[in-house]
Amino acid sequence: MSGCGNARVVIVGCGISGIAAARRLVETGFNVHILEATGRSGGRIKTTTLGDNIVEIGANWIHGPCEENPVFCLARQYGLLDQQALTPENQAMEINGYPPWAPIYFTSSGRKLSAGEVEPAVEIFTELQCDCQLIGWNIPDVTGNELYLVLVQVQKRAAEKWKDIDARTKSLLLCVISNLLKLECCVNGTHSLDDVGLGGCTLYHSLPGLDCVFSGGYEGLIEKLMSELPSGSVIYNQPVRSIHWNNNTGKRERPVIIECEAGRRIAADHVIVTVPLGFLKKHHSALFNPPLPPHKLQSVQRLGFGTNNKIFVEFDSPWWDADCEVIHLLWEDEEALVDQVPDIQRSWIKKLFGFTVLKPNERYSHVLCGWISGHESEYMELVSEQDVMQSITQLLRKFTGNPTITPRRILRSQWFHHPWTHGSYTYPAKGCSKQDFDNMMEPLPTKGSQAKPLQVLFAGEATHQCYFSTVHGAVLSGWREADRLISHYSSTAPSEPHRSKL
Ligand SMILES: Cc1cc2nc3c(=O)[nH]c(=O)nc-3n(C[C@H](O)[C@H](O)[C@H](O)COP(=O)(O)OP(=O)(O)OC[C@H]3O[C@@H](n4cnc5c(N)ncnc54)[C@H](O)[C@@H]3O)c2cc1C
Repeated sequence: MSGCGNARVVIVGCGISGIAAARRLVETGFNVHILEATGRSGGRIKTTTLGDNIVEIGANWIHGPCEENPVFCLARQYGLLDQQALTPENQAMEINGYPPWAPIYFTSSGRKLSAGEVEPAVEIFTELQCDCQLIGWNIPDVTGNELYLVLVQVQKRAAEKWKDIDARTKSLLLCVISNLLKLECCVNGTHSLDDVGLGGCTLYHSLPGLDCVFSGGYEGLIEKLMSELPSGSVIYNQPVRSIHWNNNTGKRERPVIIECEAGRRIAADHVIVTVPLGFLKKHHSALFNPPLPPHKLQSVQRLGFGTNNKIFVEFDSPWWDADCEVIHLLWEDEEALVDQVPDIQRSWIKKLFGFTVLKPNERYSHVLCGWISGHESEYMELVSEQDVMQSITQLLRKFTGNPTITPRRILRSQWFHHPWTHGSYTYPAKGCSKQDFDNMMEPLPTKGSQAKPLQVLFAGEATHQCYFSTVHGAVLSGWREADRLISHYSSTAPSEPHRSKL
């Protein structure tokens, strides 16, 4: 392609969006380098072990494994998936983002509930989720407090449907709803549902297919993708401090200077920024010189980036039923429909909605994954591992009524205090619209400028309009920005040659 071999492209961040962009550009003949702050590739895809078990500190599932999902297609191509995930039936399943896991429910007085006992609450909650995804709940007369809107709907539907149910059972059903609200906070990676713009729920698109995992770990995909990049493409432990764009240079000069923490300065024609939204929110003013234009900055500030953490717990033997896939913990004092905990220091553990069971049983000895979101999750990151283990032990003994349950070891994620991420993933906060995602992905300088075009481009999950917060959204965003550069060079005359000295 004309001139692309002379153009120097620098990608900031070696997560999957940066890798996806780099591969496509390299294939087309571009000169590409990736600057990564940490000593590893993969970013929020991070596989490790707990004892002999493979566990995912970040992304775990391919959400919606079907032909439209690039992560599924890549994983299939590299032979990283089990037979079950490859079946047409698996790909055709419509789950609307909620896998049909087999649950068990325990209460804080140590009672195990039957599926029938919780069914009326689950039914109302599922109905609400469907309505929310379909209509986005843009109800004009109830604005400002989204959680209130959910609660009003719950109360209204409960009053109609639970007329004949006694007060004690009703109270327990409301505790089930509180628990499901906490789960929903984990799905969105938010502190409270009050932070999520319910109008924005229609923005996210679920793909068909029953969510599946990488049996050898998600990082297997990163290894395969990295093996196809020329060696030396990534410079590790090289945090970028500042991107100087729109440099007043002569025609032959490169318009962008990337300044690293260690003092290194690299000139480029184009830089693709893939840093997480959490990092952008905190460091945008130091990162861009000149600063981001106001409409772009407002979208960075308006979009939500919250925390969802995992606590893996390994046991000597399972104490749950063999077919159980998720364990819910219901606090019996939470019928007032809370999705946050008032006294974080004493009761942060109450925000943990429960555990998913790592499957298949024959691969994972006996491991559960606890889920906790929001400020309680951020607080949990600072508690010592020993104290987290103690809190988990007490919690499980209380809810199961079994005083002998003792975890063998635990491992937790700490995404909020991760210096290059500052949280887990993007959600559409109150007041957000599709326009915010359009603003996020808009390159600099913006249209109409006389300066050299496409100096700074933006990729990463937070820049995808309908698959934000996912790995496939991140991959597609990387390809999108690579294609933007490729089509730019396909339509322009050969540029002046530059000597590459990176
Ligand atoms: C707990 C958790 C669970 C998740 N579960 C799933 C799931 O099951 N399925 C799913 O599809 N998605 C899931 N996700 C989301 C998924 O992991 C992300 O959407 C995706 O990995 C993001 O890729 P990215 O390339 O956009 O960003 P990242 O992977 O965050 O990559 C950005 C890179 O930029 C680097 N960086 C940051 N600042 C600088 C700087 N100044 N200079 C140089 N480098 C810098 C970072 O170190 C990082 O390597 C989960 C995320 C978390 C945290």
